[in-house]
Amino acid sequence: MSYFPYNFHGHIEVICGPMFSGKTEELIRRVRRAQIARQKIQIFKPALDTRYDEVQVVSHSAQSIPSEPVESARDILKHLKDSTRIVAIDEVQFFDKAIVEVVSKLAERGYRVICAGLDLDYKSVPFGAMPELLAIADEVIKVKAICTICGAPASRSQRIIQSVDQVVLGEKNEYEARCRGHFDYESHLRNLDESEKSAPLN
Ligand SMILES: [Zn+2]
Repeated sequence: MSYFPYNFHGHIEVICGPMFSGKTEELIRRVRRAQIARQKIQIFKPALDTRYDEVQVVSHSAQSIPSEPVESARDILKHLKDSTRIVAIDEVQFFDKAIVEVVSKLAERGYRVICAGLDLDYKSVPFGAMPELLAIADEVIKVKAICTICGAPASRSQRIIQSVDQVVLGEKNEYEARCRGHFDYESHLRNLDESEKSAPLN
């Protein structure tokens, strides 16, 4: 990894919010703007996020940009090219805890780092390393979705399928955006209990 001149300062931006809030669109918008300015960018995502496409970062609204899937946070450092100035990381909540050190290191070395990810999981509990990433960020962008019940701004992801795994890769049939008032983790548990009576979980 190369170091940049003293006058090039690193910067950490974290875009977060619930499902369907446009996190990836905002990441793509920032990346495209930098590409217009001819800045060299690499886009990474965790290898486990295989929905839609293996090598593209694709948003729910089907915008896409090429990306490099990596197995672990430290692999981002291994795959950095000398010419890169901006590192974008999508679905950052799925990375291991080392992502915090990796992102810090990149900023210290002068890179602009743009991360996008879920701030909360389906229980409304902070997701993975997101609390630390939000704390070390220079800029935090919280984007909102629209509550499917009342149309208010939504900050929560309601799981509407029966699973207790923290990682269920989201698509339209598995989650709904909900406002704080309509987020109901208890109802998810009640549904789970009833389904357990009739059918075993996979
Ligand atoms: Zn609502």
